[in-house]
Amino acid sequence: MSTPVVSVEPPAPQIDPDSAGYWRGLAEHEVRLPRCSQCGKVRFPPLDACPYCGEPGGEETVLSGVGTVYSFIVLHRTFHPAFEADLPFAIAVVDLEEGPRVAARIEAPPESVSIGMRVGARYVDHESWTELRFAPQDS
Ligand SMILES: [Zn+2]
Repeated sequence: MSTPVVSVEPPAPQIDPDSAGYWRGLAEHEVRLPRCSQCGKVRFPPLDACPYCGEPGGEETVLSGVGTVYSFIVLHRTFHPAFEADLPFAIAVVDLEEGPRVAARIEAPPESVSIGMRVGARYVDHESWTELRFAPQDS
């Protein structure tokens, strides 16, 4: 017996003061993360201090949104009805060009996703937030 597909909004992220700039950037279709003013490293998640050298603060930086797939999994089941209709799909850990490593869905058939694949950011606007995804990048 098949389950009817229900149109449900995916759960929204819990936005806090540290991550507000990141989510505001996604809403404007940019990847923005803090760059350390001391060591220059860009960090994810967007913490209030640098995890590499301890320097507080940092400068919000617009990133290229381009990276490579470090690893990935393919989801065949989901724990939320909002994702049922999309199965199966790939979630990858992506190394961004500027250094940070982020996890996001890959908008491509799961069988076409591979480690080392070049990907570029895509932005999916939900009711109250924007989701970062990636798609294979045309070189
Ligand atoms: Zn630092």
